[in-house]
Amino acid sequence: MHALIVANGEVKDEIIQRGAAALRAGAPAAEVAEQAARDVEDDADDHSVGFSGKPNILGAVECDASFMDGATRMAGAVAALRDIRHPISVARQVMLRLPHVLLAGEGANRFAAEIGAERRNMLSPEARRLWLERLTAIGLTDAEIHDIASGHPPADVIDLVKRAVGWRDGTDTMNVMVRDTAGHLSVAVTTSGISWKYPGRVGDSPIIGAGIYADDRYGAAACMGLGEITIRLGSSLKAVTLMQAGRTMDEAGRLVTREMAEMLSPGGGGDHMKHVDWVRIILIDAHGKAGAFATRPGLFVKLQSADELTPRVVEAEFVS
Ligand code: ASP
Repeated sequence: MHALIVANGEVKDEIIQRGAAALRAGAPAAEVAEQAARDVEDDADDHSVGFSGKPNILGAVECDASFMDGATRMAGAVAALRDIRHPISVARQVMLRLPHVLLAGEGANRFAAEIGAERRNMLSPEARRLWLERLTAIGLTDAEIHDIASGHPPADVIDLVKRAVGWRDGTDTMNVMVRDTAGHLSVAVTTSGISWKYPGRVGDSPIIGAGIYADDRYGAAACMGLGEITIRLGSSLKAVTLMQAGRTMDEAGRLVTREMAEMLSPGGGGDHMKHVDWVRIILIDAHGKAGAFATRPGLFVKLQSADELTPRVVEAEFVS
């Protein structure tokens, strides 16, 4: 059976290499996917995931994460989780311990505390600096910034968000998809979401069918980029459903990405945020063939089969 791990181009090689080595040693897909996501959550150089993720407009890091097993189609997710070191593990535990799929906000934090998940201040000095820089860049005075930083935001936070998301900003939700030697698919998605978002904004990453889907019989999918688009389209489930209906992985990826490109174009509906005006989807079919498709060029994924020693870097196919 063709075992492999696929993740974002931004993920460090050693994280993917560890995953491939574990697959080679016979580890199940679920363990490999969770571990790779945990490694990225700890990576302080990554400003879109876990520790050191960019905060919401008021300076709090709110994490979204989800986990899905293709063998059972069981899934677990958390949204707007604060100050927990490994959101992905809390998401997986929601799947394993509760008769629920998605916990949000206060309830997600309650559950994390109850299962003994490790706490961590997720706002790194570097991410805080980027946040303060953005508040300055949108014209706030030192006194206004001081008020926000000390928990006294202005009444009009909507306006703040609209000003802060006015230009392109980097983002790279962690998508990790794994197929093990038994042919099982597991997907882990973890992110601090769109930077400078309205507090409580939940993206596609914890929405099963939008930012993530897995079904061993047909394939799996995960998304990165503007979550509002993949929620509206149900992109991950749609791609897997197309494969179920007999489309190839490439056809499914192109069809879904073309629809997302239409939704992102002028007249596509919605007042899209300039700072993330694109989407990428990664797919893997039931035989372990993987591919990536994006509404803009220059987005990469890393793939490594269990029998390879280093990941291959592949540019996502640009679909307009
Ligand atoms: N998809 C994520 C979201 O909308 C953002 C990202 O890819 O970084 O929250």
